[in-house]
Amino acid sequence: MEKMLKRQRAFAKARDWDQFHTPKNLSMALAAEAAELLEIFQWLTEKQSKNIMRQNRQAEAVRHELADIFYYLLRIADLLGVDLETAFEEKMRLNEKKYPVEKARGTAKKYTQLER
Ligand SMILES: [Mg+2]
Repeated sequence: MEKMLKRQRAFAKARDWDQFHTPKNLSMALAAEAAELLEIFQWLTEKQSKNIMRQNRQAEAVRHELADIFYYLLRIADLLGVDLETAFEEKMRLNEKKYPVEKARGTAKKYTQLER
């Protein structure tokens, strides 16, 4: 993680892009990249979407969009002082409480719809 952060900071600094990397702009860029990933899967059948990594050109497009999403996620977290590993752990603990195995297993229901 630290190695990636260093590389990313140097990349932005060399291009004088820090001035554009505000939380507002980065959150919008993150959503835009997520939409680019969505666009790849749009109109595919469930089966086609599951097999997408078997097609080289499509697989490359998926890898690149995932990397773009990761780039902006890493960047916004860095600039907001969020340690992603800690935030992930914190959220997973909350999710484990919201979705206890005995109630959530085998269902896609939102936690508000699970039996109490
Ligand atoms: Mg992209």
